[in-house]
Amino acid sequence: MPTQQTVPLVDLHAQYVLIRPEIDAAIQSVITRSAFIMGPDVREFEARFAEYCTASFAVGVASGTAALELTLRAYGIGAGDEVITSAHTFIATAEAISAVGAHPVFAEIDAQTYTLDPDAVAAVLTPATRAVLPVHIYGQPADMDRLMHMAQVHDLTVIEDAAQAHGALWYGRRVGTLGHAACFSFYPGKNLGAYGDAGAVTTDDARIAEQVSLLRNHGRHSKYLHDIKGFGERIDTLQAAILTAKLRHLEAWTAARRRLAARYTELLADYQSEIVLPFVHANAAPAWHLYVIRTQQRDALLDHLNRSGIGAGIHYPTPLHLQPAYADLGYVRGALPVTEEVADTCLSLPIFPEMTDAQQDSVVAAIRTFLGD
Ligand SMILES: *Cc1c(COP(=O)(O)O)cnc(C)c1O
Repeated sequence: MPTQQTVPLVDLHAQYVLIRPEIDAAIQSVITRSAFIMGPDVREFEARFAEYCTASFAVGVASGTAALELTLRAYGIGAGDEVITSAHTFIATAEAISAVGAHPVFAEIDAQTYTLDPDAVAAVLTPATRAVLPVHIYGQPADMDRLMHMAQVHDLTVIEDAAQAHGALWYGRRVGTLGHAACFSFYPGKNLGAYGDAGAVTTDDARIAEQVSLLRNHGRHSKYLHDIKGFGERIDTLQAAILTAKLRHLEAWTAARRRLAARYTELLADYQSEIVLPFVHANAAPAWHLYVIRTQQRDALLDHLNRSGIGAGIHYPTPLHLQPAYADLGYVRGALPVTEEVADTCLSLPIFPEMTDAQQDSVVAAIRTFLGD
């Protein structure tokens, strides 16, 4: 019998315990100053995060969803416009498109990286296409070179959904600088997670940074003068202070994820007749938000792992084109065969920077038991 230990999908408490003094000091300093809205902590985080991404600007907002929505608005995308994205993602990607009044168009994903397939994007371009919204799903960068080339030819805006990909590299360049703008989530379980909701937009375009920063804060430059109709979608100041403290650790955490991902791939290499391991593009360094395998016996394996105390999960079981919320778009099963196959077979194994080799060994042991080894 393999040693059985409880392994969660992600362990936020284990991380807090390791950095408690820094987090507590960050929270305390905001409360002591009692500047709870915007202020120097937000500016500090924005400067640090822009620097981390090697982007000219970072604008803190209330969530990853707000980042997507405000970025689309900043580009003036709305009614009558089509935005092409992937259906293999969290629903927020498409909701943001709907929220601004534009029309989401789902294109097929690449069968290896699970990111937008540029040929599939080309196939659904119309005169109404204004933007492409590739998702760096699981922390794997999309094929940004081909998408940016297409954008140049067809005069499109490319907005990266980098909610799962903080620190991922594409040909040595950070996600967040590859498209015209990029949207990050700091939802607690993300690679850089706040202790509540938060998000950011990165861009090299000063006009877009300015527009997002107006939109998030009621369209104002000064307290009671509102240049445009905006929203209340500011990043929370406590969250900004926490994120500045956590950002100092992000490179080490990403390195830990990369080591664990390589170790999974090594330990599971002998089982490739039954499970498909993650593919890594030769010129990408993923951020490994999730380590996702695929198997035809997905539901049975998930059940076995969960009963063995292992917090495996599915990201995501129902692709967006088949969600009840998007029934109005008229897609039917069979419309996106690769996306549907991935949704039916994908399984996320636990991965988080604090995961021990012993925890990882028990995940692998449970998989081996399931496969009858
Ligand atoms: C988490 C996530 C979002 C939304 O971010 P929130 O901060 O939860 O609003 C958007 N897209 C993807 C791919 C995500 O994983």
